[in-house]
Amino acid sequence: MLHHERLKPPIQDYPPNEWSLIEASFKPEFTAQTEAVLALGNGYLGMRGNPEEGSPSVQNGTFVNGFYESWPIVYAEEAYGFARTGQTMLNVTDSKIIKLFVDDEPFCLADANIRHYDRRLNMKSGTLDREILWETRSGMQVRIKSRRLISFQQRHAAAIFYEVTLLNGAAPVIISSEMQSPQSGDRERPDDPRQTKTFKGKVLQHRADFAHDRRIVLVHGTEQTRMVLACGIDHDIESDRPHHYRAEHTEDFGQVAFTFDAQPGSTIRLTKYMVYHTSKTATANEVGRRAEWTLDRVMRQGFSQLLREQEQYMDAFWRRSDVQVSNVRTERVRLSTVEIQQAIRLNLFHILQASARAEDNGVPAKGLTGQAYEGHYFWDTEIYLLPFLIYTSPQIARNLLRLRYGMLDKARLRARELSQKGALFPWRTIGGEEASAYYEAGTAQYHINADIMYALRKYVNATGDEEFLWEYGAEMLVETARLWQDLGSFSPRKEGKFCINGVTGPDEYKTVVNNNTYTNLMARENLRYAVETVEVLQFKKPEAFQALMQKTGLKLSEVEEWKRAAENMYIPFDAATGIYPQDDSFLDREPWDFKNTPAEKYPLLLFYHPLNIYRHQVIKQADVILAMFLLGHEFSLEEKKRNFEFYDPLTTGDSSLSSCIEAIVALEVGEFDKAVEYMRAALLMDLADVGGNVKDGCHIASMGGTWMALAYGFGGLRDYDGNLSFWPQRPPDAHASLRFPITYRGQLLDVEISAESTTYSLREGAGMVIRHEGEVISLDRANPSAVRPTLKPLRRVG
Ligand code: BGC
Repeated sequence: MLHHERLKPPIQDYPPNEWSLIEASFKPEFTAQTEAVLALGNGYLGMRGNPEEGSPSVQNGTFVNGFYESWPIVYAEEAYGFARTGQTMLNVTDSKIIKLFVDDEPFCLADANIRHYDRRLNMKSGTLDREILWETRSGMQVRIKSRRLISFQQRHAAAIFYEVTLLNGAAPVIISSEMQSPQSGDRERPDDPRQTKTFKGKVLQHRADFAHDRRIVLVHGTEQTRMVLACGIDHDIESDRPHHYRAEHTEDFGQVAFTFDAQPGSTIRLTKYMVYHTSKTATANEVGRRAEWTLDRVMRQGFSQLLREQEQYMDAFWRRSDVQVSNVRTERVRLSTVEIQQAIRLNLFHILQASARAEDNGVPAKGLTGQAYEGHYFWDTEIYLLPFLIYTSPQIARNLLRLRYGMLDKARLRARELSQKGALFPWRTIGGEEASAYYEAGTAQYHINADIMYALRKYVNATGDEEFLWEYGAEMLVETARLWQDLGSFSPRKEGKFCINGVTGPDEYKTVVNNNTYTNLMARENLRYAVETVEVLQFKKPEAFQALMQKTGLKLSEVEEWKRAAENMYIPFDAATGIYPQDDSFLDREPWDFKNTPAEKYPLLLFYHPLNIYRHQVIKQADVILAMFLLGHEFSLEEKKRNFEFYDPLTTGDSSLSSCIEAIVALEVGEFDKAVEYMRAALLMDLADVGGNVKDGCHIASMGGTWMALAYGFGGLRDYDGNLSFWPQRPPDAHASLRFPITYRGQLLDVEISAESTTYSLREGAGMVIRHEGEVISLDRANPSAVRPTLKPLRRVG
């Protein structure tokens, strides 16, 4: 339940626009929020939406995914097996600074006389565009236009096209293009545990530099992780006015200043190319040269090619991913159709920006829009993001799962540290080691293992990429199944059932509990999938099976044990109330006093001691409710209703991972108004700063969850058994419709739902079988579409 008026009016009056997020006037009070919401990224490189001038800013942020420094975690009281090494994604060299001086007067947004201002995140072209009309103190009118992009096609490259025109006079113009490596950590001890820890002093140490003509490359390295980062800039100038430049650099700073004698009406065009290369193994000189090669290439191609490629990339993305709504009755959601459309696209666009070229990295909780949560990868990826990626950009999904495979050896070691067999994936990490300093809400979240395997199954089912399963998945399944089998035990006090004690479920407001229902259900799923996969391998791929046995030392007797554990998994159930208790002791706890908890005391984690929170029936985020969605086929509609009624009022939504899931289950149990409220909260999580912390970065998991709320919630998509099934929600508004594409086994399906009917169209591919309300429908080239009536709720979905 949304316990308090979290939905403040949108932080900015972003004018409704289907394809852009527009900042129509400069409002310094929103600097931090717009830095996050207007950030650019390609999954490898990210830049916050700081103005070109570099200020005003709250955090001038440039991040390279996976580029981090580690530090020893110091515990006031030590214990065996605690995570030892903290990891923090670093704010790296800021290369996007372009300062402007007209008649020697600096252009400074904070106190400039701005006659026109328009900055927009253009989601069609994948650029951040700005247009300003500035009047200098001496009355000179200056038009400044810029276009910034981080290339999706060329992973290491970014560029800014910067244009200055004096409209009513002549004056000397100086454009100073700069780069600056951060001098120190930004904060030392944040009060909010979700924010990043930072370092005292300098983290990036100078290693090398190269400069010639208008090019500067600075190479820095970290001390502990021994990583190297090269950042290079180079420039192209187009102007009919004579100009000269002066380039200088130090170890941490570079500057190329261009001077022009500008005449009225003549336009100066500067293109700044920025490249980043990183390595864990190569030398500083080598990485610096890579930066030079990329600079050479993009300089040759020019901005127009980068832009063209970007637009093509975006076109292809939207073609396979765009979710469209029309004619939504606005009083119900308090948003116009265009605003909803804009918010949907913003969510999807940011997911792309967080993941597209992550490749051998993961997706940080805030993408590359901020440093909160230290740039760590969590279960957010597998449970919240992967569904969208699997059904729209399967290659990205594959890379992210492949990354988990790359962590398997470290996960094995971690399991050993915890005296466990198999492998235990880290709750939060960049480099693969567990980096959560608070084990109760960190390491104890063993469910991460099952979450990854759940996503693996979805990926394999949706893509048919069995090679991936044989090559990587099977080994992960063996090791995760081993972990569960070893972690749990058959309890004579629970009729010999298989119990998993001492774990934390998704709800971080209850930690180290026995038999978290979500965990047990997901572990059972993990065990079953492992059994199934090993058996299929054994009969279908004997060679791969032998290799797996050898690699993992697997014995068939183990598989029998997994089966026994799965078959006997203890699932807490309270027959008297029909409630699935969140864990063994949940129902014994006293309900939280919501009535006397004022709105300002949320999120509770910032205002109450954990013990206080843990002792009560109060939930941070969907837990049993999440299980009822992910494993919906294990629950009857009656059970879903009863449990939603019980858990929803206890769920604070203090985590942004909650609303989207609540929306899906609310829809299924017929709580339409609630679903709309949750949907609104999820959709506007960042735009309206629902949690009050978008300044620290966008909520990427909620963004993925928003897609789930559309596709699984309103679209009624279900896929437990590997088949695509739909139980679409009938829109209450007669003319409203929802349309989304799904990539399934290399084919493209369009789903369009209106109050009357649902249309399934095969846009690409030879043929597929889907289900509508349980009816099997075959689509192929001869019969590429099918139309069926959209039924009224309420019925079980799945
Ligand atoms: C949530 C976790 C989530 C993490 C990162 C926490 O507040 O409780 O479930 O993984 O944020 O997004």
